[in-house]
This record gives sequence, structure tokens and C-alpha cells, in this order.
Amino acid sequence: MTIGIVGAGQLGRMMALAGYPLGLDFLFLDRAGNSPGGQVAPILCGELDDPRLLATLARRSDVVTVDWENVSVAALRRLGPPGTVAPPLRALAVAQDRLAEKRLFARLGIPSTRHAAVDSRRALERAVRTIGLPGVLKTRRFGYDGKGQYVLRSADDLGSAWTQLGGAPLLYEEHVPFDFEVSIIGARSSRGEIVSYPLNANLHRGGILRLTRAPAGSPRLQRTARVFLEKVLGHFRYVGVLTIEFFVRRGQLIANEIAPRVHNSGHWTLEGAETSQFENHLRAILGLPLGSTRPRGHAAMINLIGRMPPRERFLAEPGVHWHDYGKEARPERKLGHCTIVEASAAARDRRARRLLLAIDPQTRIMGR
Ligand code: AMP
Repeated sequence: MTIGIVGAGQLGRMMALAGYPLGLDFLFLDRAGNSPGGQVAPILCGELDDPRLLATLARRSDVVTVDWENVSVAALRRLGPPGTVAPPLRALAVAQDRLAEKRLFARLGIPSTRHAAVDSRRALERAVRTIGLPGVLKTRRFGYDGKGQYVLRSADDLGSAWTQLGGAPLLYEEHVPFDFEVSIIGARSSRGEIVSYPLNANLHRGGILRLTRAPAGSPRLQRTARVFLEKVLGHFRYVGVLTIEFFVRRGQLIANEIAPRVHNSGHWTLEGAETSQFENHLRAILGLPLGSTRPRGHAAMINLIGRMPPRERFLAEPGVHWHDYGKEARPERKLGHCTIVEASAAARDRRARRLLLAIDPQTRIMGR
């Protein structure tokens, strides 16, 4: 069987690597032939919404999936009957628009940030008056890794925020003084089976994920996150892996966004869980039984960003799992990650702190 993947980034590459033991083949569609996925499977080279290339991808694949959520829903819709593409296009469409995401959270009773749609400078002034300061102005579409965001701390910031982002449809929301951030990752198969992984505690700097530790959070938080995840999966009759990111404030979950795909905060599952998020995504979209999500210990994942550290040094340490995506180095670009799995949370945190100091000294483990 062949899986067609729109986008050949590191997520697609890890999906393919997870799928080969299951006897699957892969075909990518990507703009660049030297994308990470191209190192492990053939690539159709061209625009991700090129109807001819998408049709070729669909014809040569049993199921088409995505490694990036901002693909053209209209172009994918033309590919054929429902079931040809997973995840469902309705879920992709909602995840592409921050306002639609907020409406979904409200409709499903999932707490989220107070917010207002902003499409003019006056609307921004009104939103700041209603919601207050500090707040975050975000583009509704095409934001990732903190791009397309501006934190407003005082009324003086309004002008520069508008200069920077005005023109695109925007959303203004309260700035949440969160205690920490978590995400939950789960899968729903085309047969309706649902599994979820333990919560991930995520540390961002400059809007980019730097460190994930899992399992994290209290059993109560885990239960609540699982309930919210099931609501979203059920709402879309979702097929595949989906992630919800939350702020945690005074023990309460506040939903930030959904990602209709495997997620950076789930990379630890490759070595740290019985079945990785990548394999479970493939199982889900093929209607195969989902794999156990049981953690194999206490895992930490550190992103390798901007430049790859010298691998010899880290490979010399037993139990450090190294992933190099084979990408050209560029400031703030995710080039790889490394994972450790320890017997206790305390041992994991000690080692994660030490590794982080060596790899990314500007990021500090704070709180939990
Ligand atoms: P996002 O692209 O919405 O996931 O934002 C990236 C990161 O920026 C989040 O993981 C947070 O660390 C931070 N951030 C985004 N929105 C807010 C907010 N409303 N309040 C506080 N921090 C935020």
C-alpha cells in the first residue's frame, strides 16, 4: 500500500520511517526535491495545490494525508470521495483559521482565550478596550512557531502592531499569564477507535517549541484534556492524529489551538511510547487497530534549532536518541531533535536540564 503525503517536511519523513516496518510505501508532494521526506521516499515536485500533481499523488496512493495543515482545502476537495484524504477536510479548514478554532472550542464547551476578530485599526482599538492589555494580535491564517503574532503590552504598541500585521484578517486575544503549557495528542481511526498519549509539558521560547517533557500534569488535568480531545475528534468524525495545545493557569486548561496532524510535542513517542504518534497516524488512516500509547518511561525531547550541535558529543552519551532532518541550517529553523527516556521524572529532568544547557543555553527549565 502507498501513502501519499502532501508536504515532505520532517513530519512526513518521520511518518515514512515509521511506516516502512508496517510494509507501507510513500510518495510525497513538495515544492523542493531536497525536503526531508525526499531523503526517504520519492517526491513529486511542484506546488502543493497543483491540481495535476495532486491528482497524480491520489492516483498513485491508497490514502492521501498531510504533513502541514495549511494545504489548500479546495484543492484537496477535488481529489475524490471522502475517505481518500485523511484527516477530514472540515478539520483542516477549522485549524487553518484561528477564529474558526475559537468558535469550535466555544461550541464544544472547551475553555479558550477571550478574543475578538480584528479587520481594521478601529476594530483593534475596540478589541483592546474590551479585552484589555496585555494581549496578543495574531494573523488568523498561516501563523506558525509564533510567526504572525504581536504582543501588545501598552496602548503605545497598538500602532506598531497594526503596521506589522494590519491588512490580513486578525484576531486579538488576552495574553494568558500561564503557569505552564501542555498538549494532548490522540488518534481516531476510521473505525472510530480512539487512543491518547499522556500529556506533554511544553516549553516555548520566541514562540518556538524548545523542550517537551512527558508524561506531565496531574491525573485530573490528563482526564480533562482527554475529554476535550474526544469532543474534537468526535465532532469531526476525525481520522488520524490530532493535537490540542493548552495553557495551564491555576490548574485549569485553556485551549490555544488545534493541529490536525502529528505534532512536534509528540516526537518523544518514537522512543518513549509503545507506539509512536507517526505509526498511530498511519494505523488510523488505514483503519488498522491503533497501537498502545503506554509510555516506556519519562521522556524529554529537545529541539535542535538554527544550527546542529556536534553530534559526536551527544552520541557518546548512552540513551541519547539523535534525529537530524537533513535540512539546511537557518536561524530559528527546526533542524532536528533529540530524546532521552529515563526511569523517573527526577532523573529525566536532571538530564534534560544538562542537555538543554549544552544545546540551547538560552532556554531554561522553569517550574514543572
Ligand atoms: P501559537 O502559534 O498560538 O501556538 O503561539 C506560540 C506560542 O506563543 C504559544 O505556545 C505561547 O507560548 C505563546 N502564546 C501564544 N498566544 C498566547 C497568549 N494568548 N497568551 C500567552 N502566550 C501566548
